Amino acid sequence: MLSPEKIIESFAAACTACGLCVEVCPIVSETELKDAAPGEVMDEILELFRHGKTGPLARSRIYSCLFCNTCVPACPLELNPGFTFGTAKGLLRKLGEVQPKGVAGIMDYAKARLEESIISFRARLTDQTQLITDLHEKPKPARTVLYATCFGLMQGQALYTTLKIMERIDPGVRVLGGYDFCCGELQFLGGRPAEARHQFAKLVEGLSAFSPVEVVIFCPTCKMTFDHHRPQTNWSWSFVTDYIADHLNELGPPDKIDANVTLHDSCHYVRGIEPATDSPRKILAAIPGVQISEMKNKKMDALCCGGYAITGTGRPGYRFRDRRLAQAGDTGADLLGVYCPGCHMTLGAGAAQKGLETVSILSLLGKSLGIEPAWADNF
Ligand code: SF4
Ligand code: SF4
Repeated sequence: MLSPEKIIESFAAACTACGLCVEVCPIVSETELKDAAPGEVMDEILELFRHGKTGPLARSRIYSCLFCNTCVPACPLELNPGFTFGTAKGLLRKLGEVQPKGVAGIMDYAKARLEESIISFRARLTDQTQLITDLHEKPKPARTVLYATCFGLMQGQALYTTLKIMERIDPGVRVLGGYDFCCGELQFLGGRPAEARHQFAKLVEGLSAFSPVEVVIFCPTCKMTFDHHRPQTNWSWSFVTDYIADHLNELGPPDKIDANVTLHDSCHYVRGIEPATDSPRKILAAIPGVQISEMKNKKMDALCCGGYAITGTGRPGYRFRDRRLAQAGDTGADLLGVYCPGCHMTLGAGAAQKGLETVSILSLLGKSLGIEPAWADNF
């Protein structure tokens, strides 16, 4: 794993400030960057990385970044601007820059939400030791471990249904999650890249304590983090929709659900280190009666939910989210299907204001399989 300093240093040594990544960047038009020349924006970034001099364009580029990976294929040098800008939040912090409220407060917010979410999730389990949040709880060995992820625990109803679906594949499945077992994304989002690396190592240790064969990851961003760091383990990891799509014939007969669903793809699934698009559609296609109405930007071309930019810049992020919601509304679907718990949180509130219901496609599958909802508002 490269240190944050090395990541910034190697980007600064290679980048030519050609500006191609700015030209394709979908958030630029929502920010003050739209009035600057792409090369000028990247010159300011390099000035910051090489000489520690901050400027408004560099600050805006870093904090508005959606980490959507749209720019990765555009860079002729195969650099990863989004990942580097995430790392650069730590550099700005070190230089004494005041962080935007959303970035500075993300970890306290997440900690408080996680504590509530864990209590609420655990209360619904028949065997409360099925969820491990602390290694002192001594995990029992398990063939399959569901890595709950922080945003997953905050979307407890979808996580619970997923666990029940997975019990049909492996009744001995156990769950790991909680603040001590964040993949590091919260720290990364909060401008603490060095802590993020430490956190990831702790998570790998926690998962290994189950001596599992397979770890199923509930959040596509966490799955991308594993693909990025490639830890040496005795177990393999997969994203939850890939895992479930591979086991659809073991789940029992699904009931019909009449619904027109538009599917929001997650950047970190469709443009991750190992890009994929099929399994969420395979899951929806396995539910009789479900019709899929695709949005204008779909699969590898999907628009981001706007979450990172909402945290970093507020309004430009909300405007970006609303662009995505307008695309969903244009399909005429009654449900907005999601499979990323972070996108679920970001899009959910805005969608409700526009009269669109957001639903986890795993909750929808669970409903068709007759899994009893653990919460009144199952979606
Ligand atoms: S496209 Fe690549 S080389 Fe060009 S400015 Fe962006 S990061 Fe630098
Ligand atoms: S990751 Fe997305 S938002 Fe960030 S710079 Fe690249 S294209 Fe722009």
